[in-house]
Parts: sequence; C-alpha cells; structure tokens
Amino acid sequence: MIQLENIIFLIVAGLGIGLFVWQIRKIRKNILIGRDVELADNPSERINKTLLVAFGQQKMFKRMLPAVLHLFVYVGFLVINIEVLEIMIDGVFGTHRVLGFLGPFYDGLMAVNEILAALVIIACVIFLWRRNVTKVPRLATGVEMRAWPKMDANVILITEIVLMFALFAFNIADLKLAALNNHDLPGSFPVSSAFVDAFGSDAGTLATIASVGWWIHIIGILAFMNYLPSSKHFHIIMAFPNVYFSKLLPKGKFTTNPAITHEIKAMLDPSYQPPAPELDVDGNPIVQRFGAKDVEDLTWKQLMDSYTCTECGRCTSVCPANITGKLLSPRKIVMDTRDRMEEKGEHPAIFAPNHYKELGVERVQITDEKTLLRGYITPEELWACTTCNACVESCPVNIDQLSTIMDLRRYLVLEESAAPASLNAMFTNIENNGAPWAFPPSDRFNWAEDLYVPSKN
Ligand code: SF4
Ligand code: SF4
Repeated sequence: MIQLENIIFLIVAGLGIGLFVWQIRKIRKNILIGRDVELADNPSERINKTLLVAFGQQKMFKRMLPAVLHLFVYVGFLVINIEVLEIMIDGVFGTHRVLGFLGPFYDGLMAVNEILAALVIIACVIFLWRRNVTKVPRLATGVEMRAWPKMDANVILITEIVLMFALFAFNIADLKLAALNNHDLPGSFPVSSAFVDAFGSDAGTLATIASVGWWIHIIGILAFMNYLPSSKHFHIIMAFPNVYFSKLLPKGKFTTNPAITHEIKAMLDPSYQPPAPELDVDGNPIVQRFGAKDVEDLTWKQLMDSYTCTECGRCTSVCPANITGKLLSPRKIVMDTRDRMEEKGEHPAIFAPNHYKELGVERVQITDEKTLLRGYITPEELWACTTCNACVESCPVNIDQLSTIMDLRRYLVLEESAAPASLNAMFTNIENNGAPWAFPPSDRFNWAEDLYVPSKN
C-alpha cells in the first residue's frame, strides 16, 4: 500500500535523478566543444584495457597503501550500489527489504556490504589523515593545488563516512526491532549484530532511528550523486569511458597534423588528391588551426580527460620538469583545461568554482585575449616539458596530458613562430641542412676523413 512517505520518496528521488541527468547533459555539451576524433577502433583491445585499468585498478598498485585503501572504497561503491537498488524499490513501493527473497544470496550480499562499509569508514579516515595531518606532498596544497581540491576531497570523504554510519544505524535498529518482534530479518549482518544493543530496546526510538538512518542514507546518496559532476570524484564514472577511448598507439608515437600530411604528400606526388575539406553547417570549409590555442582546438577526448582527472598529483610528482623546479605541472594543465572548458561552454559545474577564482587569486594573464593558451597556460610551462611521457604512464585513469601540451606547443610553432630561439635555430638547420646541426650535407662525412689513415703499402 503506497503511503505519503512513498510519494515523498518518489519526489525526492525524481528530483535527485533529474538534476543528475541535467548535469550530465551539460557536461556532454562541454565535452563536445572539442574537435571530433575517431576512437572506436579495436574494441577488443579497448575492452581489455578498460577491464585492467579501470575495473582492475592496475595502475593504482604502483603505490600499495593508497591502492588497497582505494580498492576498499571502490569495491564498496560498486557493491553497495546493489543495496541502493533495494532501497529504491522499498522507497517507491513501501516494501521492506524486498530482495530478501533471494535467500542465501541476499545473506551473503548483506554480509559483504557490511564488511565493505566498515572498511570504507577505515579507509576514509586514513585518507583524511593523509590529506590533513601527514599532508602527503603530492596531495598537499601547492602552487597549482589551491584550497578547492583539498576541500572537495574532505567533503567527499566525510560524506562517505556519514553514509556508511547511516547505513549501520538503519541495520542495527532494524535488527533489534526484528528481535523484539520475534521475527527473522532477512540477511546477515556481521557488523551490526555486534552493536545490536547500541540504541536500547524502545521500539518507538528504534523505529525512528531506522527511518532516519534510511532517509539519511538515500538522501546522502542522491546528494553525493549530484555533487560528483562538480568534483574530482567524478572519475568514478568517467574513468571507464576515458580508459576505453584512451590511446592504443605506443606512448612515444606522436600524431601528425592531417592538413600538413596532405600538403607534403601533394608536394611529393603531384597526382595526389587531398580529401575535400569538411564543411560547417553553412556549407563553408572548416579551417582548422594548426595545433591548439583554445579548448575548441582540442579533441573531445582531451576535454573528457579533464573531467576524468582525480587531481591525485601522481603525474606532477613524477614530472622531471616539476621535480627540477620548472613551472610545469601536468596536473595543472588538465585542471586548467577543465576550467577553461567550463568557462567557454558556459555550463559551469554547480558547486566547483574555478580553481583559482574561488580564492580570488588572479591567473597569470599575459594578454587580454582569453584563451586556454596564455589566458590559463603560459608558453613557459609548455616549453618546460621534456615529452618524457612519465605523466601519461603514471596516470591511473589513462589521461594523456602530453597530447594537450604538444597541441598547444604546435600552435606556438606553426601559427605564431613563437618557439624558443634555440628551437628556431634547429628548425632552420633542418630546413637548410636536413639535420639539426649547422653544417651543410657536403660536410657530413668529414669525420670519416679525419679518421682515415692511409695504408703504408
Ligand atoms: S611529458 Fe612533460 S609534463 Fe609529462 S612528465 Fe614528462 S616533462 Fe612532465
Ligand atoms: S592527470 Fe592523472 S595522474 Fe595527473 S592528477 Fe589527474 S588523475 Fe592524477
């Protein structure tokens, strides 16, 4: 029998899910600001990669302690979602533990849920400790990591702890009520059983605690779901598509610019016919920049990368440029791309302020023109990159920071001729001498003559 409580639940759940869908649509629009790129090839290799890196957390296990703690939280998230399904059905139809008919499977599920919920609480407390007390360097506030990421992480960790305690409150009160009424509660509750007398034996109080715990748990989950798109924890959703669409080519292999490739092919073979340029909706040819100046010059995958970033700092902590005191931080490159995309897309996240604006800190603005290049990322940062790929290798969600750096650099070189003087000298040498050195091709074998010792015979 559907009651007022169920109708209220239906409205709350409908609002929560509706808001989440609205946010996802905004994010999709923002990602589609990027250029199109075909990444649907080789689905079997992509699925394998997703199973290993996203589901299997393969890259996390390079650092054992955070990997194990993260695994508790991650598996807890996956398994506890099954219980959310039951809560939704109970909430809508006024049933009580509707999946109880699954018998031993339900017993096992509830037991695993409880153990994982306890492990999630322990892991979250340790994560809070690492962030706020021991201040692990890569997580601590630094030049590019200002207050927001730290607060964001604390909000999520505390919310997860509250959600788990609410679940335990519900289970403990429910268990005790069942015992008082002499009926068997479906399920097995190894943790709650140990605390079954924690709330006393008054049936009215227990019913209130069970109800409050149940509501806090479900409202907390809906709020958490709607907070995610504004948070670095959005990676729990985005990691899967992001890893699926990540680069399959060897890391060191750079992409070429198709327009330049066609031009060179036409130079080498006059009969070569370059493909017709793409047309916009008005039928005009789309003229693409060489390289990237702003977010619309990057691909949708590069923009998706920025929504997937967990802001963990692994990339920056292994970046040789950053370690040796240069301005570059690959994490900042990704966060800047996200900030600029949200600004340009005019679909800002509900809660997350621009990483800099929220502290009133001015960005380094070296021109009036507001673009990703210079408005957010300076050439000095870009030229500090050694293209070593250490950041790409270390990223647990397969973000390709280097591809964004390279596209921004390409713009500087190809559109502005704004490479550092040493590189410009090398470009000239390659153009004139076919090699990076300042010697003509005719001198190339001089070294052999210097070594040549004529035979005495
Ligand atoms: S590729 Fe560039 S940004 Fe990435 S780790 Fe190497 S130097 Fe740093
Ligand atoms: S780009 Fe990857 S490694 Fe770097 S902070 Fe983001 S998630 Fe971590």
